[in-house]
Amino acid sequence: VAATLPRLDCPVVGPGDPRYDALRRVWNARVDVRPAAIAQVRGPADVQDALRWARERDVPVSVRGTGHHVAGLGVREGGLAIDLSGLASVHVDPVRRTARAGPGATWGDVDRATQAAGLAVTGGRISCVGIAGLTLGGGYGWLMRRCGLTIDSLLAADVVTADGERARASADEHPDLFWGLCGGGGNFGAVTSFEYRLHPVGPLVTAGAVFYDQEHLPAVLRGFRALMAGAPDELGALCNVVRLPPAPFVPPGLRGRPAVAIAVCHSGSEEAAARELAVLGDVAPPLLERIGAMPYVRAQRLFDAAGRGGSFVHGAAGQLASLDDAVVAAVEEHAARLPSPESIVMISAMGGAVARVPQDATAFSHRDSAFAYAVDAVWTDPAEGERHLAWAGALAADLEPFSTGVYVNELGPGGDVARAYAPATLERLRAIKRRYDPGNVFDANHNVAPAHAARAATAP
Ligand SMILES: Cc1cc2nc3c(=O)[nH]c(=O)nc-3n(C[C@H](O)[C@H](O)[C@H](O)COP(=O)(O)OP(=O)(O)OC[C@H]3O[C@@H](n4cnc5c(N)ncnc54)[C@H](O)[C@@H]3O)c2cc1C
Repeated sequence: VAATLPRLDCPVVGPGDPRYDALRRVWNARVDVRPAAIAQVRGPADVQDALRWARERDVPVSVRGTGHHVAGLGVREGGLAIDLSGLASVHVDPVRRTARAGPGATWGDVDRATQAAGLAVTGGRISCVGIAGLTLGGGYGWLMRRCGLTIDSLLAADVVTADGERARASADEHPDLFWGLCGGGGNFGAVTSFEYRLHPVGPLVTAGAVFYDQEHLPAVLRGFRALMAGAPDELGALCNVVRLPPAPFVPPGLRGRPAVAIAVCHSGSEEAAARELAVLGDVAPPLLERIGAMPYVRAQRLFDAAGRGGSFVHGAAGQLASLDDAVVAAVEEHAARLPSPESIVMISAMGGAVARVPQDATAFSHRDSAFAYAVDAVWTDPAEGERHLAWAGALAADLEPFSTGVYVNELGPGGDVARAYAPATLERLRAIKRRYDPGNVFDANHNVAPAHAARAATAP
């Protein structure tokens, strides 16, 4: 534990500072840890200084983006948190169709800047989530079936590695490091800048959701499965088990009602969207239809209420090869007992461009999944934790036999990385870790242990 605060060029905040509590907080209130110090870095040189200071004193470090990981990995007890949230600039080159963004930028920042040029990159479906952790794990979003995962559009990253050096990683420079950054999480260094390839999108897309009474859940999930079996790449979609929120778009009489929703973002023409989404009126009688043409930037904000944070969250997740009737039955079994209005079961459709990238092109291991599920129990009264954990645990246990692995950005605290990566991928990540971080300085993450010397020699 650091006895004194580091003296760096950038602001350093420690316990006792009035800003400390706000800065140590992460999205999931269950993570209540007290770093020894938080360095509010302003550029790569500050990151190098912070890292050097910590290494000379054996102080453990963590690297923090916007703190949205459900496991709260960006801060650690007694460590030095390198807080990158101040590096939030976004520069778009509309001619080259690229964007360069700092690791503290949110998807809202990136979407606003890129859409000004009619361009976009696959980003998180909540605008306040940070780009860094999301990109380094892979990156799911409304556009992924059309443009691939976020990493499929990553062109380069600037990194401060464990030895305190700066490196640029791309397909041509440090290609092994670049491969590891594309899905391997924050294991290989602190990324100080991301460069993305952009795609023409919008500015108008067709987005929103159709809500059905929860008694129709099996029919809606089967309808969702049929919809996605023939869907164009332009259609991104989720099927969520929810309670209708107390939001202005919900008539007062329906608020709080157990429901199942198909949420969509169709980035093709309005006519194509109308044609391809017409079926949503037939899968079951809709309670509420809220789908229409809107700017992509607004579509990206539709579910922002979930991003605010400050609640206690227990998440469980998995990848699915298919949405079998047995999965539908497991979800139905637990849906009626959704433990709070904020709790959710989310099934997202993968496929399309995600599946067309070869498995070994990046470190992301779930290209062949047709769907991914996430079960989130969300509560605000600490005394209610047990009930929520029991519900999420029971549903997760029933879904687990169907899971083919877990997306690293949804892996809970203490989660096993062997569930996030295929064996060959993990072996390759361990060899890269040995090369760039043999002492495992960057271990506040879902950690890839450095390969042993003999094994590293045989790895690519
Ligand atoms: C409300 C909500 C919605 C979400 N929606 C999506 C979604 O649509 N699609 C999706 O794919 N995921 C989604 N996620 C999951 C998201 O990908 C992860 O929470 C991700 O970790 C968030 O990034 P962050 O920068 O806030 O990471 P943090 O929580 O700050 O850190 C997470 C990990 O990344 C590492 N890290 C962060 N920044 C850097 C950096 N610059 N260099 C090196 N390592 C770094 C940290 O050390 C830590 O190990 C969502 C999460 C929430 C809470």
